[in-house]
Amino acid sequence: LALIPVLTREELEVRSTEILARDRVPVTVAMTSGTTRPRPLVTFRSAGEGAVRSDLHSTLGRGLTPRPLLLHLVNAGHGFDVDAPIPGTFQVPLERWFHFESVLDLLQTSFTFPGFGSRVRGIAGALRLLKALTMLCIENGVDPATFEVELVSSSSDHLTSRWREILSGYWGAPVDDVYGLSEVPGLYARRCLACGHFHFSPLAIVEALELDRDAPSEGRIGRLVATSLYPLAAMQPIIRYDTGDVIEFVSEPCVLQGEAGFELLGRVSQLVVSRRPSSTSPQVLLSSIALNEVLDSVPDIAIGDYGFTRGLGIKSSIGLQKWHLDQKAPAGVAEVALEIELRWSPRQHAQAAGELEASLRRRILQAAPALAQAVTGGAATLAIRFHEPGTTDYWALV
Ligand SMILES: [Zn+2]
Repeated sequence: LALIPVLTREELEVRSTEILARDRVPVTVAMTSGTTRPRPLVTFRSAGEGAVRSDLHSTLGRGLTPRPLLLHLVNAGHGFDVDAPIPGTFQVPLERWFHFESVLDLLQTSFTFPGFGSRVRGIAGALRLLKALTMLCIENGVDPATFEVELVSSSSDHLTSRWREILSGYWGAPVDDVYGLSEVPGLYARRCLACGHFHFSPLAIVEALELDRDAPSEGRIGRLVATSLYPLAAMQPIIRYDTGDVIEFVSEPCVLQGEAGFELLGRVSQLVVSRRPSSTSPQVLLSSIALNEVLDSVPDIAIGDYGFTRGLGIKSSIGLQKWHLDQKAPAGVAEVALEIELRWSPRQHAQAAGELEASLRRRILQAAPALAQAVTGGAATLAIRFHEPGTTDYWALV
């Protein structure tokens, strides 16, 4: 694999209609947009892949009798969902009020399908959809005792501890956290019951490369590059795809899986790194995951609502926070600037803004010891700047 060049997201966007098998016909097309991307990404899947995905999914819950019914919230905004039909799994969108009513029906009804339990026991979906469903239930006074959900599984965006508590508190169920990318079929990781960290499924080959070059990482931190295994991605082969995500393997091997688990640090473009003179590998001073964990609990930060919630009539804001992290290193000193749009005017409330700035600085430096050390030693500076409501187009996609 090391002889094959790395495929970047940008290249896949530009050439996605060229990287296609010649002897197959696609049956599904999926679309992904990104705010910082030059073009949307269109991915193609063949019927054979759908059958393989269906087989793989059907192994879920195998051995359980009766097998559990599941609800999968699908993102209709991404086009026809690439997931294959899965017996006993209701795949539903959540973009209109009647979708919400239908989901409630499915969650509250007792069914009699042969081999399956009568009630929906698990809900899976992108975090933004789980947030929407949960807030709709809360705002409309739906009693969670009318459900029998035993597991909530969140994907796509970073699940902060605050949202984990909100979800598990309402549904009365543990919240599982999974990692995967729609453009790399088979790339999938979930949290381990033994060590609590992520482990990859064996359905894709993963490599961890250095942050700034295409060489295997020598440390525990690396840029995640993944290759889908045939016959997954048979329509659109995905070989050495640079996910743009950075992972850090924990130091201790897992007692259950043998190999060490990992944690996500965020996108490589959102990491604050510094190059230590003594080492060839850059050091991560601040990750967007660590930053998001701090900022997510600050209600003063403005929120840009998700487009799909407009048709749902959700009253509270559940979108992405409006902040942006910038980094410059003009003379070897890392100048970190955190730009934040507030819900209230920092100019009108200068004293409150000053207090907020001091508290944020303290909490961020506490959450990022490497940055704190660099700031103390003069190797980095941290500036936090507030902006008036409605004056920025920041969109913190973490
Ligand atoms: Zn483990």
